[in-house]
Amino acid sequence: MAPVDRSKARVVVERKVSAGGVVIFSKSFCPFCTQVKDLFKDLGVHYEVVELDKIENGSTLQEALLDVTGQKTVPNVFVNKTHVGGCDSTFQARANGRLARLLAEVPQLADQSTSYDYDLIVVGGGSGGLAASKEASTLGKKVLMLDFVVPTPLGATWGLGGTCVNVGCIPKKLMHQAALLAHGMDDARSFGWEFGDQAKHNWETMKNGIQDYIHSLNFGYRVALRTKTVTYDNALAKFIGPHTIKATNTQGVESTLTAETFVLAMGERPRYIGIPGDKEYCITSDDLFSLSYCPGETLVVGASYVALECAGFLARLGLSVTVMIRSILLRGFDQQLANLIGDYMVDHCGIKFIRQFVPTKVEQIEAGTPGRLRVFGKATEGEETYMGEFNTVLFAIGRDACTRNIGLDTVGIKVNAKTGKIPVDEYERTNVPHVYAIGDIQEGRLELTPVAIQAGVLLAQRLYGGSTVKCDYLTVPTTVFTPLEYGCCGLSEERAVTMYGEDNLEVYHSNFKPLEWVLPQREPTQCYAKIICHMQDDERVVGFHFLGPNAGEVTQGFAVAMKCGLTKTTLDSTIGIHPTCAEIFTTLSVTKRSGHTTEVTGC
Ligand code: FAD
Ligand code: NAP
Repeated sequence: MAPVDRSKARVVVERKVSAGGVVIFSKSFCPFCTQVKDLFKDLGVHYEVVELDKIENGSTLQEALLDVTGQKTVPNVFVNKTHVGGCDSTFQARANGRLARLLAEVPQLADQSTSYDYDLIVVGGGSGGLAASKEASTLGKKVLMLDFVVPTPLGATWGLGGTCVNVGCIPKKLMHQAALLAHGMDDARSFGWEFGDQAKHNWETMKNGIQDYIHSLNFGYRVALRTKTVTYDNALAKFIGPHTIKATNTQGVESTLTAETFVLAMGERPRYIGIPGDKEYCITSDDLFSLSYCPGETLVVGASYVALECAGFLARLGLSVTVMIRSILLRGFDQQLANLIGDYMVDHCGIKFIRQFVPTKVEQIEAGTPGRLRVFGKATEGEETYMGEFNTVLFAIGRDACTRNIGLDTVGIKVNAKTGKIPVDEYERTNVPHVYAIGDIQEGRLELTPVAIQAGVLLAQRLYGGSTVKCDYLTVPTTVFTPLEYGCCGLSEERAVTMYGEDNLEVYHSNFKPLEWVLPQREPTQCYAKIICHMQDDERVVGFHFLGPNAGEVTQGFAVAMKCGLTKTTLDSTIGIHPTCAEIFTTLSVTKRSGHTTEVTGC
């Protein structure tokens, strides 16, 4: 372009703008210009860009832009001959719908940007995905939910509802209940019940009952989606464009679907350790709950939630169980409580712990249901050794986020290369403006069903209901359903010391004896209650820990109280319910600092 004066430059600007479409006057080094260009890229909308720093008359054009629009700064954006403004104004127009309206007026752009098949596509039909889909649809949006289960290496698969319903919380808690009943039967005689000695557990009956219930839940979810007018497709989703997904159904039929917004909720699947024989001969929790035969003598590898819960119920069902532990029990949890759980599993459930070991190889001795397997392992710093024979080896060594090979790179969605998790901000936004992530795939958040549900509902309400309420990921209660259950909320003692310093904390604790344990003469020293109070903050309870029967039921109410700012004084002024286990928290008087005994002597 030859040098031009300001009036001629104005004509150049007006000509560019009058051609219609999206025109961005930009400077190639300007980060705000990049944001605006990325926005249109994400929207899949073609734009024309004039980089003022790269052309001869750039500065004169910028003067002319001031004359035309009253704005000298870049970016300076026009859509369909209408001045939209700079970066903030453009994003504001995107948020309040003005941009969509302007784009819709441009026939060639309407195709690209506004005629999406759906307002929202949710990828993943588990706890988070179901919650987000139903809420968005209730708020009047056109929603598609895609859910697909890739079979395990041994072929297990399941229906709609995700991990919790099919291979997580629900079957786990029901098997835990089967195990508690065994304990109850042991106790029953001391309460006068008389029955023969031949109590025997039938795995198939338990498994069939649980699977029937799960199938009814799968059906219920389908009905709920239909009632809420969410379109559901049992298909694997893969991004093939910023707003476009390829869905491949169970018959291999592919369809291409577009949406304005996406919520990712793909969850996680069990990790394999990568040693010879793991995928061929071993199972994970994804196989266990639908296993057609009793697993028999079992080696559980891992030492966190899944490993200890499964080891616990299998042992209480009468199986010989060994747990191989790489380092510590229940990493991240209060270690005093974690070790009490371990002691109880060893002393009262007959579980064997192999500590500081990892498996190195699994060989099949004999096929069957169950067959027999030979396991080799090594001490964390040692040579390979023969560890023994087992019918079943259950790997519970953590879970991998389902974020690989589904085209997230096509859209430019950032994934932590090490963990496979998706970083999100407090609004569950990924780095791509129209893509959100909730549930287990989020980086650095708790992997629990109610967390995924809460995040899904609140996200939909913010997107489509005008809400500003964010999901509060702090002070989330949880329970480990080991034979002696452990409920907690807030900080572990270790974490509280790191955060506040030992001198600023008062730790109150006590053993307690459930009344139900008196007649069967179960050892009273196992049950334990602990609260951690921040002294400078009115002795506010920052950590709550309960090891005893019905820990989930006990912990839930105290979690509510902690949200309300529970203090030691409030606990002391609360009258307990007698005779219960939870009442111990209203009478805690022994501090750890005092070193006094925590044993209980009477009721
Ligand atoms: P999920 O529920 O895992 O759902 C994700 C869905 O997306 C799955 O159906 C998956 O197949 C599908 N999917 C993945 N990729 C694609 C794709 N590309 N296209 C289409 N669909 C796809 N939490 C608790 O709160 N309490 C408990 O007691 C508890 N117990 C547990 C016990 C076990 C053994 C396990 C493994 C987990 C347990 N959890 C528990 C954790 C809980 O199950 C999860 O936190 C919860 O299910 C996460 O929900 P989500 O929506 O993120 O993912
Ligand atoms: P996890 O919490 O990630 O724990 C993994 C366990 O496996 C740890 O003990 C770890 O040991 C061990 N491990 C990892 N790699 C190993 C290897 N190569 N060899 C040997 N051991 C190895 O996983 P998870 O138990 O599967 O639980 C996943 C999530 O599901 C949890 O975070 C939880 O939120 C959720 N969940 C909740 C419940 C509930 O609410 N009751 C129940 C089950 C699951 P190190 O400590 O040495 O790393």
